[in-house]
Amino acid sequence: MAHIVAEPCFNCKYTDCVVVCPVECFYEGESMLFINPDECIDCEACVPECPVEAIFHEDNLPEEWAAYKDLNKEMAPQYPVLTEKKEPLAGK
Ligand code: SF4
Ligand code: SF4
Repeated sequence: MAHIVAEPCFNCKYTDCVVVCPVECFYEGESMLFINPDECIDCEACVPECPVEAIFHEDNLPEEWAAYKDLNKEMAPQYPVLTEKKEPLAGK
């Protein structure tokens, strides 16, 4: 089980979520973040930190964003870890 970052994360201007993650499992893609499901411990600390409600436990992931489960797993290992709040992500 893991938490998933879904579509509302696109072009985030906050990255508030990464600061609270105790296992540093957020990875910075070009326009959104991904959670490595092999590292996430389901602590839920990040969920209330996200101002746009982009993070879901995989059991609660809305159907319309179901594909984000595999996307997080696939993309997280390809990007650098992000552990500190940063300037807005570059938009596309
Ligand atoms: S706070 Fe985190 S999960 Fe929420 S939109 Fe920003 S980067 Fe994405
Ligand atoms: S649920 Fe906890 S361990 Fe998983 S990404 Fe969020 S803060 Fe990190």
